[in-house]
Parts: sequence; C-alpha cells; structure tokens
Amino acid sequence: MQRSYVASIEDITERRRLESQLLQVQKMEAIGTLAGGVAHDFNNILSVVTGYAGLMDMKMEEDNPLKIYVQHILSSVDKAVYLTRNLLAFSREQVIDLKPINLNEAIERAKKILSRLIGEDIDLTTIPADDKPTILADCGQLDQVLMNLAANARDAMPQGGSLVIETSVAEIDEEFAAHQGFGKPGRYAVISVSDTGCGMDKKTQERIFEPFFTTKQVGKGTGLGLSMVYGIVKQHRGFMQVQSEVGRGTTITVYLPLADGEEQKKGSTEEILAGGTETILVAEDEEDLRGIITAILTNAGYTVIEAVDGEDAVMRFEERGDTIDLAVLDVVMPRMNGKEACDRIKSLKPGIPVLFASGYSDDIIQQKGVYDNKVDFIAKPLAPAELLKRIRRILDTWDN
Ligand code: ADP
Ligand code: MG
Repeated sequence: MQRSYVASIEDITERRRLESQLLQVQKMEAIGTLAGGVAHDFNNILSVVTGYAGLMDMKMEEDNPLKIYVQHILSSVDKAVYLTRNLLAFSREQVIDLKPINLNEAIERAKKILSRLIGEDIDLTTIPADDKPTILADCGQLDQVLMNLAANARDAMPQGGSLVIETSVAEIDEEFAAHQGFGKPGRYAVISVSDTGCGMDKKTQERIFEPFFTTKQVGKGTGLGLSMVYGIVKQHRGFMQVQSEVGRGTTITVYLPLADGEEQKKGSTEEILAGGTETILVAEDEEDLRGIITAILTNAGYTVIEAVDGEDAVMRFEERGDTIDLAVLDVVMPRMNGKEACDRIKSLKPGIPVLFASGYSDDIIQQKGVYDNKVDFIAKPLAPAELLKRIRRILDTWDN
C-alpha cells in the first residue's frame, strides 16, 4: 500500500517537472516569436540607415571633416546589427551567412569577450594551428559556440583553473568515422576546448546535448547551451566529441569542414566598389528598403528595374526579361514570396542568377539553401559595399 503511495508521488513530481518544462518551452517560444518579429522589422530599419550612411561614406572625399561623423554612425549601427543578430539567433529566425573565416583569427578576436565571460580566476590560453585553417562559417554563430563552451567550462571551475582553446587540422578517414559512428571522411578544422574542472560521469555525457538537460541549479542553468552549440555545428555540417573524467576536466572537440583554397579575401577598395552596367531586377516590398537598394545600384552604374512584390517581379520579368541580368529578391513578400517568384522567373529564363535578401530564415532558405549554388543569399541589413561586392561576384561567375 505504502509503496504504491510513494510511486504516485513520484509520478506527480515527474508530471510537474514535465509540465513546468513544457511551460518553459512555451515561454521560450513566445519570447522567441516576439523577439524575432521585433528584430526583423528593426533589421529593415537598420538596412536603410547602414545603406545611406554607407553611401555617404563612399561619396565623401577622404578629407571631408564630416566623414568622421558618418563613421560614428556606421560603427554604432554595427553594434545594433550585432544585437539584432543575437535576438534573431535566439528566436532561431536567423539565416546562416557562410563566409570563409580564418579560424585562428576568429578565436583571437573572440578572446577578449571570452576572458571577460570566464572571469579572472580562470586562465585562458589559445593554441592556434600552424596551418591557419579556413572554414566556411557564420561569424556570429561561431562566437556563440565559443561563448557557450567557455561558459560551461567556467561553471565547471568555480575555484578557478585553466581553459585552453586549441585549433588544428584533422583528416577524418573512413575508419575513424566508422569507429566514432559519425562524421563524413574529409579534412576538418578542429577546435578543442579543454578545462580543468569537475568533469562529468558517463551518464551525464550521454545527455549533455539534449535541450533542457542541466545539472545546474534553477536560475543557473537552462540546459540550452550545448543543444544550441550542437544545432549550430550540425548546420555547418560538422560534428562534436566529448571527453571527460570526473574530477579531472573536460574536452569538447568541434569538427568543422575545412574550406580548402577559399582563403579569406579582404577585397581592395576597388573590388568592393566595383559596379557595372548590367540590368538588375529588385523586388522588395518595403519602399524605403527598395529605395536604398536602387540608390546603391544606380550609383554603381547599374540599371535597376523595381518591383513592389513577387507578383510584380514576375510581371516585370515577362515584359523585360531578355534585358535583365540578375534578380535580387526579398524572401518574404506579400502576394508572392521570393521563392515562388524565383521559380517563375527561372521558368522564363533558366540561366538567370538570383540573389535572395532576408533577415529571416524560413523553410524557403533552409530548403533552397545556402548550399544550393544556383541561388545566392545575402543577409539583411544590407551594407552597400557588401551588396555591390556580392552582385559583382555573381555576375562575373555567371558570365563565364
Ligand atoms: P547549462 O550550462 O545551462 O546547464 P548546457 O547545455 O550548456 O546547459 O550543458 C548541459 C550540462 O552539461 C551542464 O549542466 C553540465 O552538467 C554539463 N557540462 C557541459 N559542459 C561541461 C563542462 N565543461 N564540464 C562539466 N560539465 C559540463
Ligand atoms: Mg551552458
């Protein structure tokens, strides 16, 4: 009798736990939706500010005394962009913007924030790989990975200790992949994050990537850190490994595919400002944004045909498709979205290159994907130099 009584208490506890977990999920979802919505609109406003300030900066002579003010505007906008990116990441509305990144440099840049995050009692050392690995990654997301791993290491070393972040290059062969049960053979950049903290037993190690799995007190842990890291690494087609021993410390190893031969180019000013004489169709439903994109492109010498939504874009294309060299499409538009417009346009002129612009990730981008080389993607807010560079690159590769 007593036993069944005890069991029923446990049941309720378990149910309570699940209920509160569900509530927590719902709360996170609601906050995420709210934050994502605000961030999306805010991102569009930032596009306009960056756009016009960038244009001013490009047009001003070097010795113009007002130039410094414009540069202050631009650097403040950068900070606002960083904030909205974080909000979008949290609400999972973020699109990944893959760029060739020098991993060692990225870690060096993150070091300042990381050491502030872990505090003075923990000693941070970085050991960069000699062969300077380049990966295709989203900068903001890479920072999030590092920050989450460092925060966990900090929590594991309340009395202080040492944190080592090491990069290297590894060749994953069939045998290794088969042995580990994951990972495709190939060359990978490796980031290993080691601490001298409390470590984990096997049972904990098996669960650490589960969302909401935490061994920390309420208010201290959310159990979302490593599941976020896992999601990001997977999106980058990488994988992870955990080695840990109770009382001795933990090493978390992240493998990201190497971008061989894609050295990070810091384009010369000339390359960045390179314009052209081609004709570009721009479909964007927000008038201010359409205005700034048109201004940037016409300033660089292009002829622009504007469309107010997807349907309008298809109509313009039916009229003048033979003269259009590239279509720049907003992803989320009323009446007809960017993906549908793209399909219709490509059925009229299969070879036409398309550049999607969005601050949102939705299924359109996920499916059509940054990995599909027939469509290109640029994240909002659009900085003029970046937009021009991308357009030139697309037009040049498509000409061949
Ligand atoms: P949180 O940090 O909010 O608990 P995480 O998903 O980041 O959530 O981590 C999940 C759990 O994995 C932690 O609660 C902890 O038990 C364990 N863990 C993660 N990293 C380490 C580490 N470096 N050392 C010891 N335990 C860790
Ligand atoms: Mg954590």
